[in-house]
Amino acid sequence: MRRILLVGAGQAGLHLAVGLLRNGYDVTVVSNRAPEDIRDGRVMSSQAMFGTALGHERALGLDLWADDCPPIDGIQFTVPGPDGGRAIHWAARLDTPARSVDQRLKMPAWMAEVERLGGKVVVHDATARDLEDYAAHHDLVLVAAGKGPIASLFERDESRSPYAAPQRALALTYVTGLTPRPEHSAVCFNLIPGVGEYFVFPALTVTGPCEIMVFEGIPGGPMDCWTDVRTPAEHLARSRWVLETFLPWEAARCGGVELTDGGGVLSGRFSPVVRRPVATLPSGAAVLGVADVVVLNDPITGQGANNAAKCAASYLADIVEHGERPFDAAWMERTFERYWRSARHATAWTNALLAPPPPHVLEILTAAGRLPEVASRFVNGFDDPSDYAAWFMDPDAAGEYLARAGAREGAVSPPEETR
Ligand SMILES: Cc1cc2nc3c(=O)[nH]c(=O)nc-3n(C[C@H](O)[C@H](O)[C@H](O)COP(=O)(O)OP(=O)(O)OC[C@H]3O[C@@H](n4cnc5c(N)ncnc54)[C@H](O)[C@@H]3O)c2cc1C
Repeated sequence: MRRILLVGAGQAGLHLAVGLLRNGYDVTVVSNRAPEDIRDGRVMSSQAMFGTALGHERALGLDLWADDCPPIDGIQFTVPGPDGGRAIHWAARLDTPARSVDQRLKMPAWMAEVERLGGKVVVHDATARDLEDYAAHHDLVLVAAGKGPIASLFERDESRSPYAAPQRALALTYVTGLTPRPEHSAVCFNLIPGVGEYFVFPALTVTGPCEIMVFEGIPGGPMDCWTDVRTPAEHLARSRWVLETFLPWEAARCGGVELTDGGGVLSGRFSPVVRRPVATLPSGAAVLGVADVVVLNDPITGQGANNAAKCAASYLADIVEHGERPFDAAWMERTFERYWRSARHATAWTNALLAPPPPHVLEILTAAGRLPEVASRFVNGFDDPSDYAAWFMDPDAAGEYLARAGAREGAVSPPEETR
């Protein structure tokens, strides 16, 4: 039986571990946190996942919360205008609902699933030296340690990494008591020019259903405002201040909000980066990076957990297909490039949204308020960002598409919920 070791018990590591166990591999997962530390700790993500990624989880029996987690039925997009009103405001449904299950719930349950299927979970903070030992005793070592410092063993790929510094000051606030959106549930995405982005959507957390607020402040701007916050209560107060100051329609939904729990807040920042997929250890042994270790995007587009599931599914297929042959560095490079063929679209689109929107993007986002087809295509691209290459990412292609969509719809049908 081939022996495979994964460092990191997160979205990608545990997904891949379960997939490998279901295919007859001997699997060990090394986690620097015990399940109870994860569950009782702080939130890590807003982890909204779309249809394709959820499908990968379902295929392995990992959708343990499908009945309990509130669905996210669509995406609403809003840009405030100079008069304090909404200059752009529209919504469209997702073809398949998205869901967000707090990783504090998910990862301990998946660690138990690994053990139930016969895998081993070792609680240990793996070092570079440990990797040598793991590589000597396993057919394949995968590093799925997310933003952990061990990821720095993988060299930055300059050609694929346009940013050398964090592009947003991030904050999460998990709350209950937020007034639901009346029409249907949605990620309510607000883009405040020059300030940043705020989005909020339903989720399932350790205390039950909740809403997750995500703040993406442009560094040095007024929403880069978390460093002096000392307590969860102060964090909630600062969240309210942002909404009251920039997004009164969102503040109006928050009259009765309370934190889900003391761990339901987070703030920080990191630089988006793409790294080389293979790290060569001093002994010459090669280890393969997984998900955030090799493709780390800003959360502005909510792609990281989706990419982690897609990476796990792609690597699993390659490992199984490779049969009994050695997992050498050349195979690792090929395996990553296959994943990158889809991940590059999410990365390019995410990096584009971090920059001030160019004229053709503003045109698309405005047109989506008149043309339901455009709104629907933009919204469903969150599930499969490769579609954006054919229009959103290219000014000429975008112009041609908007003209065709306008002609098709005669620019007369009112979009859903335009106000
Ligand atoms: C504020 C914020 C909001 C986000 N919102 C979304 C969203 O809405 N949708 C979305 O798709 N993505 C979102 N993401 C991104 C998403 O959470 C990550 O991309 C995803 O979890 C990455 O999965 P992973 O398996 O690569 O890493 P992780 O899930 O981070 O797992 C890595 C694991 O490895 C462990 N580890 C680290 N170092 C070691 C070591 N040396 N030894 C052993 N274990 C180690 C860590 O403790 C962790 O448990 C968000 C991220 C942030 C920061």
